[in-house]
Amino acid sequence: MNKLCPCGSQQVLENCCMPHLLNQSAPTAEALMRSRYTAYTLHQADYLYATTLLSERRYTSKTEILQWAQQNKWMKLEVLEATEKTVTFKAYYFDALGTPQIHHEKSTFKKVQDKWYYVSGKFFS
Ligand SMILES: [Zn+2]
Repeated sequence: MNKLCPCGSQQVLENCCMPHLLNQSAPTAEALMRSRYTAYTLHQADYLYATTLLSERRYTSKTEILQWAQQNKWMKLEVLEATEKTVTFKAYYFDALGTPQIHHEKSTFKKVQDKWYYVSGKFFS
C-alpha cells in the first residue's frame, strides 16, 4: 500500500515525511513543517514535542498536543511561502464539532546542532 503523504507533496508517505518522523529530524524548515503536519494527522505527539525548540517546550505539553491532534480531522496542508527559517501555511481541518476550520500560521524554525526545531508561530485569523 503506497499511501500518499498527508502533507500534500504527492509523494508516498514512506518517501516523504515518514523518514523524518522516524529520525526525529528533517533536513529543512519546510520539510520539518510538513512532517509536523503529518505528525498531527498520525497523532505522533512525541515527534511534535521532540521537534519543538527545547526552550519553548514549557509552553506546551504532549497531552495537549495529542488532544489537539486527535480532536480535529485533518484535511489538507497548503504551504503558501517558505524561506530558510519560516513557513507560512494553511492547515484545513474539521474541529471537534465538525466545523470546517483553517489554521493559518507563519511558523519560525531554528537550527540547533544540525537539527531543525519549531520555535513559534504567528497566527492569522
Ligand atoms: Zn510529507
